[in-house]
Amino acid sequence: MKTGYLIDMDGVIYRENNLIPGALDFVNALLATGTPFLFLTNNSAPTPEDLAVRLKHLGVGGLSPRHFYTSAMNTADFLSETHPNCTAFVIGEGGLLAALHQRQIANDSIRPDYVVVGEGAATTEKLTKAHECIERGARLMATNPDNWCPVGHERTRPGAGATAAYLESSTGRRAYYLGKPNGYMFHRARKKLADASMGVPEEVIMIGDTMETDIRGAVESGMLSYLVLSGSTSLELVGDYVYQPTRILQSVEELVAEVLSGVPSDCRTPWPGGREGFASGKAGSRHQTDILALHKPRPRPAMTK
Ligand SMILES: [Mg+2]
Repeated sequence: MKTGYLIDMDGVIYRENNLIPGALDFVNALLATGTPFLFLTNNSAPTPEDLAVRLKHLGVGGLSPRHFYTSAMNTADFLSETHPNCTAFVIGEGGLLAALHQRQIANDSIRPDYVVVGEGAATTEKLTKAHECIERGARLMATNPDNWCPVGHERTRPGAGATAAYLESSTGRRAYYLGKPNGYMFHRARKKLADASMGVPEEVIMIGDTMETDIRGAVESGMLSYLVLSGSTSLELVGDYVYQPTRILQSVEELVAEVLSGVPSDCRTPWPGGREGFASGKAGSRHQTDILALHKPRPRPAMTK
């Protein structure tokens, strides 16, 4: 059976600046066997070239930009497919600017069709400009819903979701969130995987460490989902979620033998979802979701053109 993999990066391949044990063997097994795979990340700041270099510095060679699909690329794909030749005012970094440029989406700070919010680069001046653009009729979207992102041991930074939430509050408009778990991210990733492997793999497996993005998106897109415990989720928290992964692994190291042999494991019975406790740790929701948005108060009436 031809299997393709969509693979989250942070918490699956590396944590901070360290490779997760077994990750190198896993990637080498994928490359050696010609198994279709794509790294899928919600981080909209880097370009695919940046990510290939980052992994090379961590000791993972043999990767090229075609092995990566970011939420910035997904945002550019979405806009060029749904609104060709649109314009955007962008709060974001190199990866987002490059992806939009590649899809011929022009920058416009006067009367753009969209305000696009990504990781980083949010200054008071840019937020004010974005706010004004939205009041003039621009639609608000974010590359991903992450309110914060891990940057180190017990350290986080604000994410695109937090910046978008700021503009939602100031304008009374709702943002549309791309990136995982949005189905469009998984739909386009699957298409990219099929294009690269010259045919749709018979099954696509999403491997990730985060329930709200990796596992939820895979379940909603009809893919198999493997949760690894090498990142942000511990086993006792899995039962808190309605959606459950197909399989739970300590790390991707457990997949090396089956990738090399081409024989899938029979450990694919859905996780029974035993609930042992509620999530603890950092307060607040990690991600912006449509469900949360329904209950958010509108601080002022929605602007109309
Ligand atoms: Mg992750």
